[in-house]
Amino acid sequence: MLRRCFIPQRSLHIRPMSLEPYTSERQAELIANYNRVLGDVQTTERARPQSLTHPVRLLAVSKLKPASDIQALYDHGVRDFGENYVQEMIAKAAVLPKDIRWHFIGGLQTNKCKDLATNIENLYAVQTIDSLKKAKKLNDTREGHGPKINVFLQINTSREEQKSGILPEAKDEIKAIVEYLSKDATNVQLAGLMTIGSFEKSHSTGENPEFKTLFDLKTEIDNEFGTKLELSMGMSADYIEAINQGTSYVRVGTDIFGSRPPKK
Ligand SMILES: *Cc1c(COP(=O)(O)O)cnc(C)c1O
Repeated sequence: MLRRCFIPQRSLHIRPMSLEPYTSERQAELIANYNRVLGDVQTTERARPQSLTHPVRLLAVSKLKPASDIQALYDHGVRDFGENYVQEMIAKAAVLPKDIRWHFIGGLQTNKCKDLATNIENLYAVQTIDSLKKAKKLNDTREGHGPKINVFLQINTSREEQKSGILPEAKDEIKAIVEYLSKDATNVQLAGLMTIGSFEKSHSTGENPEFKTLFDLKTEIDNEFGTKLELSMGMSADYIEAINQGTSYVRVGTDIFGSRPPKK
C-alpha cells in the first residue's frame, strides 16, 4: 500500500507509530465483535419509535488500541473510527488509510485545536467542542489543511463536575456557537450535539433522562435555527437506549475492541 510521508509539525512531539500486521485470529475476533454490535444497532433501529427515521451509525472507538486493530476492521469495510487523544490520533492517522473518517471524541484544550486541524486531512468530525473560542480556533487553523470538519457541541447533560461540555441550561452560550457555526464559519460546520451519559444512568434501565435532555435541546435548536442536528450519544453500556431515544451516532469501544489498557 502506498503511504504518504508523515512530517509532523516541529512544535509537535509525536512518536511515530508503526503499523504491525494483524493476525487472522485478531481480525476474526474484531469482525465478530463488530458485526454483533452492528446487528444489535440495526435490530434496535428497526424497532425504534416510528417518529425516528434518520439512520444510526456505528462509530468504532479505538483509543489506546493498536493501529493494526483499526487496519483489520478497515479491511473489513469499516470507515468511521473515534479517538480520544490528539497525539495518538495524529500518529494513527499518519500510518492508516486516508479515506478513514476520523472522529475526535476526547477532551480538547484550546491550544490543541490547531494540532488537530492541521495534521489530519481526513479529520471528519470533532465531537467535543464546548466553547466558542474552540470552535473559532478549529475553524481558523483548518484553513488550507483539508475539507470542512463536522462539529458537535458537547453538552454536559449529567452535570458532573469532572465532565467537560456546556451545561444544557447555558442557552445563550450554546446559541452563540450555533450561530457562529451556521453563519460565519468557513472551515468547520455544525453537525450536532454530543453527550456522555453518567455511569449511574447508563447502567440503569428505562428512559435515560440525560439522553432526553440532549434530544430536547436538539429539538429546540432545530425549531429556532432550521437545523437538523445529529446526536452522538450511547457507548457500550447504553447504546441500545440511546438509539431508542433518537441518537444518530453510537460510540462503541469496549464491545468491539475489548477492554483497554490504562492510559500511561
Ligand atoms: C471511550 C469512549 C467511548 C467508548 O466507550 P466504551 O464504553 O468502551 O464503549 C465513547 N465515547 C467517549 C467520549 C469515550 O471517551
